[in-house]
Amino acid sequence: MITVEEAEKLINSHSLELDVEIVPLAVANNRVLGENLYADRDFPPFHRVTMDGIAIRFEDWQAGAKNFQIVGTQAAGSPALGIDGSNQAIEVMTGADLPGGTDTVIPYEVVSISEDPVKTASIDTTPSHGQNVHIKGSDRESNSVIVRQGSLIGSPEIGIAATVGKSALKVVKPPEVAIISTGDELVPIDQKPLPHQIRSSNAATISSALGEWNVEADLYHIVDDLNGTTSELRRLIDEYQILILSGGVSRGKFDYVPQALEELKVNKHFHRIRQRHGKPFWFGSHSSGTLIFAFPGNPVSSFMCFNRYLKPWMHRLYGLDTPVLNAKLTDDIHFNPDLTYFAQVKIDFRDGTIYAKPVEGHGSGDLANLVDADGFMELPSARNHFVKDEVYPVYPYRCDLCSDSKAL
Ligand code: AMP
Ligand code: MG
Repeated sequence: MITVEEAEKLINSHSLELDVEIVPLAVANNRVLGENLYADRDFPPFHRVTMDGIAIRFEDWQAGAKNFQIVGTQAAGSPALGIDGSNQAIEVMTGADLPGGTDTVIPYEVVSISEDPVKTASIDTTPSHGQNVHIKGSDRESNSVIVRQGSLIGSPEIGIAATVGKSALKVVKPPEVAIISTGDELVPIDQKPLPHQIRSSNAATISSALGEWNVEADLYHIVDDLNGTTSELRRLIDEYQILILSGGVSRGKFDYVPQALEELKVNKHFHRIRQRHGKPFWFGSHSSGTLIFAFPGNPVSSFMCFNRYLKPWMHRLYGLDTPVLNAKLTDDIHFNPDLTYFAQVKIDFRDGTIYAKPVEGHGSGDLANLVDADGFMELPSARNHFVKDEVYPVYPYRCDLCSDSKAL
C-alpha cells in the first residue's frame, strides 16, 4: 500500500496529449483556449469620446476662450467631423470618434448652450487637456496578444473574442473517456431492481462531475466474469484515452478487474492506498497511452477518489489549479486506523473564515450522506485526534464552492 502523496505523484507523472477543436463562441465559456487571441485593431480603435458633451481644442481654452461656436453634432457610429477654426466646438456623444482638430471633451453637465445669435457653448469649468477622451491604442496595440492560449475562457475572454471578430474559437478538446461500472448486482437506472439488486449510480455521478471539463463520457457496464471483463476492457483500451472503472478491484471472489488488466498488459502503477475511503483504488497505464483509473465500487469511495485524484489531474491536464479550501474544523474528529482519513464535511463561510462541519454518515456505501456534505477533508494518517479549530485542506465537490470562493 502506498500513501496518498505517493499515489498523487504517480498519477501526476502521467499525462495525455489533447487535441483542439473549433466551437461556436456561444458555447466556448469554461473551455480552455487553444489559440492566442490577437487585437485585430488598436484598443480602442479610434480616439473614443467617453462622455456626452462638447469637444473643443484645449489650446483655445488656454488662450482664454470661454465661449465656443458649435459647428456640428457627432453621434456614436458616424464618421468623425472636424473643426476648421479656433474657438469652435462639436457636440459629441459617448462612443463617438473624436472630431478632427479637437482633443478635449467637456461634459454637458458643465456646459451652457445658447442658440442666439448662433449656437454657442460656454464652459463653466476648468478642463484639463485630453479629458474624457479614450486615446486610440492606449489599452492595447493592434496585433498584440490579448488572451493567451491555455487561458480558461470566461465572460471577459468571450467579450474579447467578440470584439476581435471571432465567432468561433479553437479550444482544447476533452479527452475520450469511458466510464465502466462492474457488478452483477447492478441494474440500469430505468429498471426496477429485484430485492437483491441495486441501480448503478457511480457512472452517473462521475459522468456528471466530468461535465466540468465538457467531457462527454460513454458509459459501459461489465459483468463479474473474467473473460468478459478482459475482452471488454481490451476493446475499450483501444478506443478511449481514459477508462474510469468502478468496482471489482477489492479482494472479493468476483473482483476480476486487476487480473483482467494484468492479462491485457496494463502497467500497474499502484493498487491500494493508505486511505479511507477508497483504499482498493487501482491505477495503471497501457502502452497505447490509455490511462486506467479503477476505483472501488462503493459510491463514497469512488467519488472521493475522483475528487482527490482524478479531478486535480484533469485540472493539471488543462493547466488549471484545483480548488482546495483550507477549512477550520467545527468539531473534533477521532479516527484510529493508520490511514489518511477523508472526512465528509459541510462547508460554511462565516466572517471571512471557512468552516468545515463533519457529516459522518454510515461509511463508504452511504451515498445519501454525500448530499448532506460539500467535500472531503484530508486528515493526515500521522494523527488520530483532530481538534476543533484546526485547519485542514478540503476537496470541495460543489461547483459554487469551487468557483465562487474567494479563498481559492
Ligand atoms: P465492489 O467494489 O465491486 O466490491 O463494490 C463495493 C460496493 O459498491 C458494493 O456494495 C456494490 O454493490 C457497490 N457498487 C459497485 N458499483 C456500483 C455502482 N456503479 N453504483 C452503485 N454502487 C455500486
Ligand atoms: Mg463488485
